[in-house]
Amino acid sequence: MTRILLVEDDDTITQGLRYALEQEGYALTTAATVADAKAALQTPQRFDLLLIDLGLPDGSGFEVCRFARDKGDAAVIFLTARDDEGNTVLGLDMGADDYVTKPFRIRELQSRIRAVLRRRAGTAVTLLPGGVRVDTKKAEVTRDNQLVPLSALEYRLLLVFLAHPGQVLTRSQLLSEVFDEGGNFVNDNTLTVYIKRLRARLETPGGPALIATVRGLGYRLEV
Ligand code: CA
Repeated sequence: MTRILLVEDDDTITQGLRYALEQEGYALTTAATVADAKAALQTPQRFDLLLIDLGLPDGSGFEVCRFARDKGDAAVIFLTARDDEGNTVLGLDMGADDYVTKPFRIRELQSRIRAVLRRRAGTAVTLLPGGVRVDTKKAEVTRDNQLVPLSALEYRLLLVFLAHPGQVLTRSQLLSEVFDEGGNFVNDNTLTVYIKRLRARLETPGGPALIATVRGLGYRLEV
């Protein structure tokens, strides 16, 4: 059974998630403060995944993440507020697996949880054409052994492609997976810009295409 620790001080969110996650068959433990979370992490109970709110009454979700990292290797998804984009990058640097911006739809969080657990179950390192190496455990991307700095959104877009290697993803699939419900001024142009940036960062000029455009359909990660 997959065990999840939810660290969240907003009771409405906790209640909603408890119902939805238990329906999906997850075993859920909850904590509303940094202190509660640390106590839960010190019991013999092991967790597969931690959902951590960044703003907690007695500290930051980062503290919980750091503490958890010392105790084991549970996957981490941060639940962030809209204006936390800078913090989110920090979170991914710290080795969080993903983040979801509030307000989020439970269905969206569930699909992120499944993706993170799937990635955890498999290998953390993926090699792509053009000397690109993605280590999802460290949230680190390199090209020819050089670190490629990606923004949180660029990284997440790459993760969506990695979850569907060699498959054509439509623009609307990408939009719904990458961007949060109601957030980030999403439109088609934004997606085009992010794809372009991701290509510029990952593809060698004149080298093989990593993200192919499939005319009239969408995009495909070449593997
Ligand atoms: Ca909070």
